[in-house]
Amino acid sequence: MQLNHKTKTADCTPAELAEGVEALRQCSLNNLIKAKSMSFANDLVVKSVKYNLSPKQAYWVFVLMYEAMGVAVPGKEKGDNGKRVIEDIGNVFAMFVEAGKSLKKPGVLFPDVLPGGHSSLDVKVYPGYKGDSLNVIVPSQYPSKVAWVDSNGSLNWKYGNKATTEQKQVLTALLKEFAADPTTTVAKYGKLANRCCFCNKGLTDPKSVDAGYGPTCAGNYGLPWG
Ligand SMILES: [Zn+2]
Repeated sequence: MQLNHKTKTADCTPAELAEGVEALRQCSLNNLIKAKSMSFANDLVVKSVKYNLSPKQAYWVFVLMYEAMGVAVPGKEKGDNGKRVIEDIGNVFAMFVEAGKSLKKPGVLFPDVLPGGHSSLDVKVYPGYKGDSLNVIVPSQYPSKVAWVDSNGSLNWKYGNKATTEQKQVLTALLKEFAADPTTTVAKYGKLANRCCFCNKGLTDPKSVDAGYGPTCAGNYGLPWG
């Protein structure tokens, strides 16, 4: 598949286009498309069912799909990869800075959140060693590092990562949810898995089950307790 940014046309096989349309449809279902592009994107998806899309329409299928996923549009100048997609990521940095006062290696592990081959996979988010980025890894995959988020919220997919389109969509949505409200998100996934997302221990004490995390981690990460 080749995008020509001058003529705004895509040169692709019908199979590639079908894949692009399906990815765009998934992005739309997962609310990853910017509000101003939403009706245009949905229109393209609907049209593709009835007609063969023109090379110009195909171009926008791919561009909108890449933008929704926070992926650099192929052929566009470098640096486009640093698109700001994860708003409010400062909330997560703030939480890790707080935890860094008492912990050497703060981090959050969301259990069973990523669709995998036979089972759901864990996703870990933790600060890079300089503290100006967050690593996003799938511990059970190799290579495990999938992406990183810079302090300005730009989401960057690591070159050579093995994440599928679907996994990237789920990861993007998870990171957005996490950034918008770290405490609620950690509690939610902790409750779903019945594990503390910070230390990965099972939640047994009724108060911990209720909170979605344990008292020690609540203290370390500056979260409400009791
Ligand atoms: Zn814990």
